[in-house]
Amino acid sequence: MAQGKIVKVAGSLIVAEGMSSARMFDVVRVSRHRLIGEILELRGDRASIQVYEETSGLGPGEPVESTGAPLSLELGPGLIESIFDGIQRPLVDIRKKAGDRITRGIELPSLNREKEWDFVPVVKPGDKVASGDVIGSVQETPVVLHKIMVPYGIEGVVESIEQGSFKIEDTIAVVKGEDGQVHHLSMLQRWPVRRGRPYKEKLSPQMPMVTGQRVIDTLFPIASGGVAAIPGPFGSGKTVVQHQLAKWADADIIVYVGCGERGNEMTDVLMEFPQLHDPKTGETLMKRTVLIANTSDMPVAAREASIYTGITIAEYFRDMGYRVAIMADSTSRWAEALREMSGRLEEMPGEEGYPAYLSSRIAEFYERAGQVVCLGSDGRQGAISAIGAVSPPGGDISEPVSQATLRIVKVFWGLSAQLAYRRHFPAIDWLLSYSLYTDNLSEWFTDHVSPEWEQLRQRTMQILQEESELEEIVRLVGMDALSWKDRLTMEVARSIREDYLHQNAFDEVDTYTSLTKQYRMLRLILDYADKGQTALDAGVNLSDVISMKVRERIGRAKYIPEDSLKYFDEIEDELAFETNELINRGGL
Ligand code: ADP
Repeated sequence: MAQGKIVKVAGSLIVAEGMSSARMFDVVRVSRHRLIGEILELRGDRASIQVYEETSGLGPGEPVESTGAPLSLELGPGLIESIFDGIQRPLVDIRKKAGDRITRGIELPSLNREKEWDFVPVVKPGDKVASGDVIGSVQETPVVLHKIMVPYGIEGVVESIEQGSFKIEDTIAVVKGEDGQVHHLSMLQRWPVRRGRPYKEKLSPQMPMVTGQRVIDTLFPIASGGVAAIPGPFGSGKTVVQHQLAKWADADIIVYVGCGERGNEMTDVLMEFPQLHDPKTGETLMKRTVLIANTSDMPVAAREASIYTGITIAEYFRDMGYRVAIMADSTSRWAEALREMSGRLEEMPGEEGYPAYLSSRIAEFYERAGQVVCLGSDGRQGAISAIGAVSPPGGDISEPVSQATLRIVKVFWGLSAQLAYRRHFPAIDWLLSYSLYTDNLSEWFTDHVSPEWEQLRQRTMQILQEESELEEIVRLVGMDALSWKDRLTMEVARSIREDYLHQNAFDEVDTYTSLTKQYRMLRLILDYADKGQTALDAGVNLSDVISMKVRERIGRAKYIPEDSLKYFDEIEDELAFETNELINRGGL
């Protein structure tokens, strides 16, 4: 193991010599305080090291010791409900032990060593197992069954395996390889954070991650295993959108990586998240959540690592066959950490001071998302859907981080401060946003929701676009310049916005809308568009079409509970009836 000495300290970057036997990305322990660091650059026997802790007081001559291993995570029961920092230090335990600020060099295991878990095997002695095979499970929380898998690189015959209560380091099974090597398996695995965990095959996304949020599912759906970006102008409702996704998206596990701007912003997340109620299970949302939190009083280096820590944990649960949603908030803060580190390394700066490898790093993160066939003989599939928030300074998305992100993600939910100001929530701007998954997913929607789905969706988008063009005309020459047909279009667009896209996160019923209900709601509004046009064609007055009584019921359709969708039939009948009445009266 390399043993060197500090020759220079520059903030969280230190240079040590005598490190020739170390390797890139090795974790090192710095000074007598044994601060955690990682080797970023090796030149001859000189290593540049980013230190994940406060470096004040360090000076030349102090020892640096390589651990011979890259920055790795502990994976096993105990992850769920945990709150870690960027390098997986357990914040709650540390706080208990050391008070509010992380004490330097503190050595606490990421996962609890003392807790016992009830392990239930699913293989027996004599069975052949290989990497990724599930050998048993523990009920980690009431809602998460933690599957224990054979670690990567191990293959053989089970010699023994036991049911019972075990700590994560206890041997639960013994596997003998063909070469005669004996492996003692525990429930604890390690994995280097900067390397994606292996899988058998990546599949192209074929089904949506349903979120119950109408503007998302209908207009800008994200695939299960998809990647999306959401900008976050202050007060635009970003937090509410993220909470809604965490609560309602059909994901089994939530990993939330927070890189806060100000210290207290992160504390908000730490306070709020544990209080979120999980509507699907009746438990708190934490029972299926892992939080990675960086407050601003932690060194930037830990922030840089946090995104890899998050995605590695997400991969681990994906490998069990779960659908994981990871939210990174915000990737802009993460990129700033990257920039700061690069500056200290005196690398050649690229655009706006970001390193030239900014885009490839952003790509590497999002590429670890996806729907995969997991390792293991049962052919199970898992998925990671990744949602990254970007918060460009001044809200200008022409800057490098936003641009690099937009080149990679396939969905963009453009939050608009203007919509939020008008209290239109979720403030996702339908003219700005896009989803490149709609083609891939249209078959799924046809099969699972309705053959009409795609057509309704396209027509909705078209009406909204027409509205913005018509608004332009109205601005220039006034409403009177519009034909009745166009004015009906504007009325329908208003209905789409107010009765459909507007969704109140805090209303018990409105907070979540199933796809079937989304389909019924949309069909109803577009049915009104058709019937309204028929009436106009038959000579009915525009004002009569606009003030049809049934429209009140259309407007309130969002509050129809999921178990009472039959009311949609009634409203449709009423719409048909009222239209006929109008036409008959008009024809008299
Ligand atoms: P940000 O995180 O972007 O600063 P928030 O998510 O905290 O903004 O939203 C600000 C406020 O907007 C919330 O307190 C809430 O009153 C309102 N709001 C946002 N989204 C919704 C929604 N879907 N339904 C109802 N109100 C919302």
